[in-house]
Amino acid sequence: MKVSKIHALTENEKPAAQHRGHLFIVSAPSGGGKTTLCKAILNRYQDMLYSVSYTTRAPRPGEVNGVDYDFISKEKFIKDIENDKWAEWAQVHGNFYGTPAEFLNKSLSEGRDVLLDIDIQGTIQILDRYTDTITFFILPPSLEILKKRLESRGTDSADTISARLISAKEEISKKNLYRHVIVNDQLSSAVSELLSIIAKYRSGNNPI
Ligand code: 5GP
Repeated sequence: MKVSKIHALTENEKPAAQHRGHLFIVSAPSGGGKTTLCKAILNRYQDMLYSVSYTTRAPRPGEVNGVDYDFISKEKFIKDIENDKWAEWAQVHGNFYGTPAEFLNKSLSEGRDVLLDIDIQGTIQILDRYTDTITFFILPPSLEILKKRLESRGTDSADTISARLISAKEEISKKNLYRHVIVNDQLSSAVSELLSIIAKYRSGNNPI
């Protein structure tokens, strides 16, 4: 039997020590400007990965499967809870939403930064499992302004807006669970503030 000699890697051949990627969460009440802020982050940091959530809710007009969400059945979602497939999952307004654990773990261990756009229930679970997660809560200047923003969006009925405002109040009362709270009064200032904090983490100068 031929036994080949094991070749020990020289310093030059060894892969560079892989640092773990940063995990960022952005949460906000509905109408809080979160989608725009997340887009601004991904536009500025094009190497950052967005974790596409899975959901059992129906796609809205214009939403693309695999881009905005992976739209799956309730049966599949529940099966995946049993198979421990979710890094976190929650029920929001009657629908299931979840972050796939495999994508998250693989990306972070490859040193990629990952952005999650999830709600407060998911944030609590992620903080439990990924204790270094950098969390942002986007705070509307007031509930009245949030109401006006939801109304002017024109996508929700009066009942839905009322339900969203009740949820918003509840979420805002828990904002201190987040490491950074950013008031979205002027969108451009909120974007600058968010990007400058993220830049500090990415350069190794943790702001906290
Ligand atoms: P929408 O249905 O309006 O897109 O999202 C409703 C809420 O679900 C938002 O607050 C959003 O952040 C949250 N959400 C979206 N994906 C996930 C997820 O994977 N996990 C959790 N926990 N919440 C999510």
